[in-house]
Amino acid sequence: MPPSVQSAVAYALMLNLTLKQLAAELASKRVSSVEVTEYFLNRVNGLGKTLNAFISVDAERSLVAARAADALRAKGAAGPLTGIPVAHKDIFCAKGWLTTCASKILSNFVAPYDAHAIELFNQAGAVIVGKTNMDEFAMGSSNETSYYGPVKNPWNVATVPGGSSGGSAAAVAARLAPAATGTDTGGSIRQPAALSGVCGLKPTYGVVSRYGMIAFASSLDQAGPLAKTGEDLALMMNVMAGFDARDSTSLERPPENYTRDLSKSVRGLRIGLPAEFFAAGMAPDVARAIDEAVAEFRKLGCETVEVSLPNMKLSVPVYYVLAPAEASSNLSRFDGVRYGYRAPEYGDLADMYKKTRAQGFGAEVKRRILIGSYVLSHGYYDAYYLQAQKLRRLIAQDFVEAFKKCDVIMGPTTPTTAFKLGEKAGDPVQMYLSDIYTIAVNLAGLPGMSIPAGFCNNNLPVGLQIIGNYFAEAQMLNVAHQYQQATGWHMRMPEGIA
Ligand code: GLN
Repeated sequence: MPPSVQSAVAYALMLNLTLKQLAAELASKRVSSVEVTEYFLNRVNGLGKTLNAFISVDAERSLVAARAADALRAKGAAGPLTGIPVAHKDIFCAKGWLTTCASKILSNFVAPYDAHAIELFNQAGAVIVGKTNMDEFAMGSSNETSYYGPVKNPWNVATVPGGSSGGSAAAVAARLAPAATGTDTGGSIRQPAALSGVCGLKPTYGVVSRYGMIAFASSLDQAGPLAKTGEDLALMMNVMAGFDARDSTSLERPPENYTRDLSKSVRGLRIGLPAEFFAAGMAPDVARAIDEAVAEFRKLGCETVEVSLPNMKLSVPVYYVLAPAEASSNLSRFDGVRYGYRAPEYGDLADMYKKTRAQGFGAEVKRRILIGSYVLSHGYYDAYYLQAQKLRRLIAQDFVEAFKKCDVIMGPTTPTTAFKLGEKAGDPVQMYLSDIYTIAVNLAGLPGMSIPAGFCNNNLPVGLQIIGNYFAEAQMLNVAHQYQQATGWHMRMPEGIA
């Protein structure tokens, strides 16, 4: 327990503090980073276990970083995130940390270097509070494909938290960490954010470096933050974003301050509502919450216009050609030779590869490798892969047209709220369709976010998706922040987590 009465008060309040508030507590020295870190480590080791939200926790390592953060502050050199615990998806290499990507094939892999995003958080003085559970190689929408078992949704432990960044979303929702990182290839930040009732942002492709982030589908993968508020996402982006020469798709742009527009009025903002998002398919209580959120924006002075994304219906099939194609290539490096799991018994080299990969990968990963190898093979390449590339361009073009009429696009993040564990696990197509509203954004390389916007009839959170034009993150964060100044959904906590 903390030493003084004064810090005991702050300690009790810590549960639902935003990053901004926590930073103020640290700056005023009412609490130390060691105290904050111990507080969240206790939660990670308690409720975090029940929810299965983390793959690795290393309290000693976290506390070393917390002490260093306190020392930095004592020297007067602290920044906005110094001393703040952040949970990282287990897809990011973090030096000295087990980095498994939730796969058996990497179950013994200790990263020898930091991903660029991790390096930036370390430089900012943030503390790694643990590595979060996820779908194996980020392939999934429910966090059920993890080698380490499913994550439970803190709002209802019989339901999924969403995926693939399910551990990160559950960690923020259950207040196991004040913020987390995730990655989004087809919706894996936004979809779990929606199902777990937190905020998540997938930046424009190329804004956050992919260096040290285990690759799934390189032309789609993008890292981003999960947190309680739009403002906190902005603070996270201020750390994570930036050029990195080690990622050939990293964009060299002047650094941005993502908090710069937070307090701007949204009066006159044109919100595009895509007809295709509001057509059949959305659960009625999700539709109601989204309508209410849009009405709230109208109250704030925004205008709404109907837009059309006619090729959006092709996004799931296009994605399930392109993402597996890239995955089949990216995952060829896991061969039991240089690092990771190797089958204990084998004959010749080919047999070693076969046994290692047969034992090391789970069913969904194997399915993707098979589909990917198929669509890239001679005779099918033109019919599937090339065709999908062409359609990808058409899908991106739809957004170009839509943004001629509006400033941001809004709609649901997901067609339903959190579904039951096991409900879709045996039906890949049903599972794939839970990303129907998010995938097109990745295919186009656009930024997208999800923010809490109410609850469905069984008290599970609903996510509102905000899609911006290229590099419109600051504007989207402004939109989210203004909504959160007027509403209180984002500060609600699941019952029984305190
Ligand atoms: N659910 C999608 C898939 O399984 C997207 C995953 C992701 O964004 N990483 O591929």
